[in-house]
Amino acid sequence: MTIAFTATVLGSPRIGPHRELKKAVESYWAGKLDAAALSSVGADLRRQTWTELADAGIDSVPVNTFSYYDQMLDTAVLLGALPERVAGIENDLDRYFAAARGTDTVPPLEMTKWFDTNYHYLVPEITAATTFSLHPEKILGEIAEARALGVPARPVVVGPITFLLLSKFEDLEPLDRLDDVVALYADLLERLADAGAEWVQIDEPALVADRTDAELAAVRSVYRLLSALDRRPAILVASYFGDLGDALPALLDTEVEGIAVDLVAGSLATVAAAEGIDRKHVVAGVVDGRNVWRTDLDRALDTLDALRERAGSVAVSTSCSLLHVPYTLDGEDGLDRALRSWLAFGTEKIREVSALATALRSGRDAIADELTESRAAVATRSADPRLHDDAIRGRLAALTASDRTRAAAAARRTVQAAALPLPPLPTTTIGSYPQTTEIRVARAALRTGAVDRAEYERRMREEIADVIALQEDLGLDVLVHGEPERNDMVQYFAEQLDGFAATANGWVQSYGSRCVRPPILFGDVRRPQAMTVDWIAYAQSLTTKPVKGMLTGPVTILAWSFVRDDQPLADTADQVALAIRDETVDLEKSGAAVIQVDEPALRELLPLRAAEQPAYLDWSVGAFRLATAGVADATAIHTHLCYSEFGEVIGAIAGLDADVTSIEAARSHMEVLDDLRAVGFDLGVGPGVYDIHSPRVPSVDEIAGSLRVALKAVPAERLWVNPDCGLKTRGRAEVEASLRHLVAAARSVRGEL
Ligand code: GLN
Ligand code: ZN
Repeated sequence: MTIAFTATVLGSPRIGPHRELKKAVESYWAGKLDAAALSSVGADLRRQTWTELADAGIDSVPVNTFSYYDQMLDTAVLLGALPERVAGIENDLDRYFAAARGTDTVPPLEMTKWFDTNYHYLVPEITAATTFSLHPEKILGEIAEARALGVPARPVVVGPITFLLLSKFEDLEPLDRLDDVVALYADLLERLADAGAEWVQIDEPALVADRTDAELAAVRSVYRLLSALDRRPAILVASYFGDLGDALPALLDTEVEGIAVDLVAGSLATVAAAEGIDRKHVVAGVVDGRNVWRTDLDRALDTLDALRERAGSVAVSTSCSLLHVPYTLDGEDGLDRALRSWLAFGTEKIREVSALATALRSGRDAIADELTESRAAVATRSADPRLHDDAIRGRLAALTASDRTRAAAAARRTVQAAALPLPPLPTTTIGSYPQTTEIRVARAALRTGAVDRAEYERRMREEIADVIALQEDLGLDVLVHGEPERNDMVQYFAEQLDGFAATANGWVQSYGSRCVRPPILFGDVRRPQAMTVDWIAYAQSLTTKPVKGMLTGPVTILAWSFVRDDQPLADTADQVALAIRDETVDLEKSGAAVIQVDEPALRELLPLRAAEQPAYLDWSVGAFRLATAGVADATAIHTHLCYSEFGEVIGAIAGLDADVTSIEAARSHMEVLDDLRAVGFDLGVGPGVYDIHSPRVPSVDEIAGSLRVALKAVPAERLWVNPDCGLKTRGRAEVEASLRHLVAAARSVRGEL
């Protein structure tokens, strides 16, 4: 019988404590670093990660969670399932990166959000013709490396069901290829056993979302088959981001040895009550793997004790991979001492897991110091006045439905048309203009102190003046200031609001080499002063055309921050909404007739289980409305949503009640407009008429054609003309050419009305 481990994590960050991997990979892409040097950066990072875990007392260390780009892409490589179009690329590494990023001639795999996180994975493409074959070199290599270091390695792979459910199929149902794939997993398990692995972790996070009976039956049969193999490591099926629900009894009905459960997002009760849990090694995710708060050790121990009464055996773990949190609090000296004492990043979470495992083994007295610290953090955090601002709470308590309600949309349209006459099919852009080298240089110089605030602001105003002049020259109808002063659409606001803190080095991987540094929303949110009014007013002073005020919405601010976990998200969202509302009112006072509140993350936070979605949509839509209902009827509220596959949120789009909603539509050829019409959407809409994700300049005819298609679904008085998204990643020349064509197309279609 395999010896069950007691302390683990489900995975580790891999970008490097100082983003070493990001830098190395980007240098490799630029041709400045060769494959051997890149590989040695990777090996160093793996060694650091594993030795840190082993030294901290983690007695089963996940390996193969390292990746040059993404774990789903790695799994596609493992199964020989890269798309045909990259097959001709000889070099393994270059073929891998071609699938991830495309080349001049080959488009990349699509990228999409990993469950409800802000991590993006690459979507494997599977067809009836895909010939799967096993390529275990990477995983076997990592096991060998770890064993050479004396590390108790537990290889990790994305499981067959999750892999297929998350892939894209042209001509098949996802599970049609299950047998072929499972046969390879069976081979893989044998190879892992030969390589000396005692355990394998098979990640099946897809099981925390709603699954059909057929899918649940597949869970049972796949894990019966794999657990019946003669030569294999002990199997740990890992779930995270929620409850296993009906998949738990299915898994318990197999001979797998272990099940990892998320006891932060999921509940203890169903696990403890499950029939057959007494025959399993339960890996209890009691340390939050995706948020930054210090664990309340007493509470975690209560959970572990309760579980121990029922489970066969128990190990302590994080709730998910530590991929989603920064490496360490070391060096975060800019955080105030109290706040810092409430936090735990990767390193600190590893220590928490280890301490909890010690307490399970030897009793709570064995971790007396850790418990004292944990209790002190709980006490100071709940007592801190920054978390309980009476003025803010009073204001929230006094809100009524009317604070989230504007006059009827049709009535608003009439008043707005009188206040701001616009031609039919008005033209506009989504907000940002190219972030030029000058802008980046100025921001870096401000950070290092090479220029002062006044000089920085002078340069930003210069940039704004350029962008306004360009838009006047192009003949756009509703202008923007271009957002040069914004490093990031959430961070910019977080830096100016009370209740948020910024980290110095709190980077997490968003996708590939792209990292983000989410702010920490720790307290009650207050807006000490206006955040955007000076910039917008300056832009407006340069033109007689209307300039849109530009804000980020409450849901997106929450989604792209680490959010406090001591109150419902809905309450936090309303606090942010009030701050944004105050800003809209100030913008209106300063003369803005149009204000756009972006919510690109509205769909991202959607709960994975259908049963929880209505409540989410209710509060998220409510927060947006609170943020936008403070202005007069004559002020037009716009919003921007980025994507076009609305799915479950389509009804909520109408609920936002924005006067105009701009959305991505070019890639789907305006199909989204039919979906909107089907749910009775009758507000203004700006379907993107060209795709900004590529440098290609669309022709006038092409844009005019899209507009004519759009006019079949939307009457002219509600149709706006704009690109798909912001222009900040594009070059100046292509933006100018594309927008010139956009304006010409709008004029020509206007002539046909
Ligand atoms: N206003 C933002 C911009 O144009 C919107 C970005 C987004 O939707 N992600 O850049
Ligand atoms: Zn967008």
